[in-house]
Amino acid sequence: MLVETHVHLGDPQFDADREEVLRRAAQRGVGLLVEIADSPRDWDRALALARAHPDSMRCALGLHPYHADEWRPELAARLSAERDPLIVAVGEIGLDYFVKCTVPRDVQKNSFRAMLAAAADAKLPIVVHCRDAYADLIPILREFYARPPAAGFHGVIHCFSGTEADAVACRDLGFALGVDGPVTYPKNDPLRAALKTAGLACLVLETDSPYLPPQSSRGKRNEPAAVAEIGERLAAVFGIPAEELGRATTRNARALFRLDS
Ligand SMILES: [Zn+2]
Ligand SMILES: [Zn+2]
Repeated sequence: MLVETHVHLGDPQFDADREEVLRRAAQRGVGLLVEIADSPRDWDRALALARAHPDSMRCALGLHPYHADEWRPELAARLSAERDPLIVAVGEIGLDYFVKCTVPRDVQKNSFRAMLAAAADAKLPIVVHCRDAYADLIPILREFYARPPAAGFHGVIHCFSGTEADAVACRDLGFALGVDGPVTYPKNDPLRAALKTAGLACLVLETDSPYLPPQSSRGKRNEPAAVAEIGERLAAVFGIPAEELGRATTRNARALFRLDS
């Protein structure tokens, strides 16, 4: 059984065939999905999706750096009031310094810190989005997480895209690393090397659908069934059978979202 740890199934691109997409994922062995809400406008929709699929879906409520200027103190209150076991994380939250993100960096950092404090209050792990911002991200994580947890993870750096040194730093802080479509791209040897150095014990699978399709479907809409292809490519990186990779990443994902406690 595979866990798809990061999907945006609420996206309108899935309006026409959402249930069909879920069936295809189940056929490829995906037993659990975590729906990620990027902005407070999506929180109710994510929770409704999880409630409609309580056996196979959980959700995370966040504030993507693209929406960092929508931060309001009421959001923290809502997160701590909303005690539903289907809400397994706060995220995605983080920093995005790629040119397309127009929210000023100071605004992003302030909102990120506020959401980290809210996650600590709610005692939930975090799902972190980081693009071209590891140099600022890692010190901020250190402010909030002084040492790794005794077991499991503080959260996940979803779609990990940093260097080998970033991978080791995030792992040593107590974070899992999310692996998705880019690991299948032929030119991505540096990413594969960084993930191998970080080690199987901190890796989880995700697709970030509808974004980031793997090599076999580049240019098309991505969907959760692709975690199988991502898992197969990652298994080859470690030189192990796909089943073994699947078991290890599923164990990590269950620890990350505290699904066994
Ligand atoms: Zn993201
Ligand atoms: Zn995402």
